[in-house]
Amino acid sequence: MEIENLYSDSIKGLKSSKIRELMKMASKPGIISLGGGMPDSSNLPFDSVKEIINNWNSKRAIDALQYGATKGFTSLLERIRKRMEEKKGISMDGQDIIVTTGSQQALALVSKLFLNPGDVIIVEIPSFIGAIAAFYSFMGVLDGIEVDENGIIIDDLERKLEKLRANGKKVKFIYTIPNFNNPSGITLSVERRKKLLGIANKNEIPIVEDDPYGDFYFKGDEYDYRPIKSLDNSDLVIYLGTFSKVLSPGIRLGWIIAREDIIAKLELQKQSFDACTPLLSQVIAEDYMSRGYIDSYILKMREIYKEKRDAALFALEKYMPEKVKWTKPEGGFFVWVTLPEEIDPEALFRRAVEKNVAFVTGDAFLPEDYKNRYIRLSYSNITVEEIDNGIRIIANTIKQMM
Ligand code: PMP
Repeated sequence: MEIENLYSDSIKGLKSSKIRELMKMASKPGIISLGGGMPDSSNLPFDSVKEIINNWNSKRAIDALQYGATKGFTSLLERIRKRMEEKKGISMDGQDIIVTTGSQQALALVSKLFLNPGDVIIVEIPSFIGAIAAFYSFMGVLDGIEVDENGIIIDDLERKLEKLRANGKKVKFIYTIPNFNNPSGITLSVERRKKLLGIANKNEIPIVEDDPYGDFYFKGDEYDYRPIKSLDNSDLVIYLGTFSKVLSPGIRLGWIIAREDIIAKLELQKQSFDACTPLLSQVIAEDYMSRGYIDSYILKMREIYKEKRDAALFALEKYMPEKVKWTKPEGGFFVWVTLPEEIDPEALFRRAVEKNVAFVTGDAFLPEDYKNRYIRLSYSNITVEEIDNGIRIIANTIKQMM
C-alpha cells in the first residue's frame, strides 16, 4: 500500500533536516562539540531534584503522579505569575498563564492558533531552528528581517511590512528572541524594543517573544534585559518562558503569558496535544521555586556561563584569521560566526569533524531561500579548555581552507 498518498499536506512539506544528518556525523566519542545548545550537563541540579522528591509526603506524591489541569498545576502557575511580575516587570493585568511541555510546545501551540497555510511570519535573520520548524510544520511562510549588533533593523521591518501589505499578504505575527538570540547571541536594544512594539501596535501584529536565556546576562542587571512584554500596554505580546535553562531541559516545562482570551484558546488546543504537561515536572518545579533553588542556581550558572563566554571570545580573538567576524554576546550560550566568502560552511564542518570538533552550520537557522555564510558556536556545555581547543582547531581549518 502506498501510505505516502494518505499523508497530510503539512507533513509532505517537511524535509528531514540536513543539520540532523550532519550532527549524526558529529556524535562520535571524544568529539569536542560546540554544536548542541544545551545547558552545562556537569552542573544540572540533580541534588536539588533528589532532595525535593525525598521530602514529598503522600499528598504531594499523588499530586505529582496524577493527571492535572490542562492549564497547569495551580500553585506552580501562581509562582510563575509572581516571578514574572517581580523579576521581569510583566504586569499580569488582563493576562493569564498556561504551562506548556517545554517552550517548543508553546511554539507549536501558537503556530496552530494563528497559522493557515501560506500565512506569513516575520523572523529575525538568523532565528531559532525549532521555531522555524514549528512554523513550517503549520505551513507558514517565513519572511526574514535583518539584524545588526542591536538586533532587528527597524527600517528593514517597516519596509518589509509595507511591501507585504502592498502584495496583499497577511502577517500573523513577528517572532523574536530579544535576549542573547539563539543562534546569533545578539540582544535587541531597549530603544528598539520600544520601536518594535510601536510598529506592532500601528500594524496590529502580535509579537511572539521567546526568552529562554534572559536570566543569563553577563553585564548590567535584570532591568537591562526586561522583556518586551514588560513594556506592552496593548496586550500584543505573547511571552514564552521555559525552565530548560534555569532547572533542566529534561523536565520539559515552559509557559506562555498572553491576554486571557488567547490563553483560553491555547488551553483548548493543548487538550488535544497532551492533556496536561507532566505533573511530576510541575510539582518539582514548584518546590524548586519555593525553596529558592531557582535563584541560587541562576546566580551560580551566570558566573559559569560568563567564564565560558569569555573563553570563547578570547579564543576567537587569538586564533581566527582577520576575515572572520563574530558576535559579542552579552549573555546566553552562543556566538555566531561569519565566514569569509570563499569558505563553504558545510565543507568546514566536514573537515572539523575529521579533527574531532563539531559545531552547527548556519543554514539550520535561516529560512529556506537564504544563502549561508555562518556557523554557530555554543560554549555552554563544554569546558574552558575544550572551548579553547575547539576554536583553535576550527580557526586552523579555516586558515588551511583559505
Ligand atoms: N526557544 C529558543 C530560542 C531556544 O533556544 C529553545 C531551546 N534551545 C527553545 C525555544 C525550546 O526550549 P524548550 O526546552 O523549553 O522546549
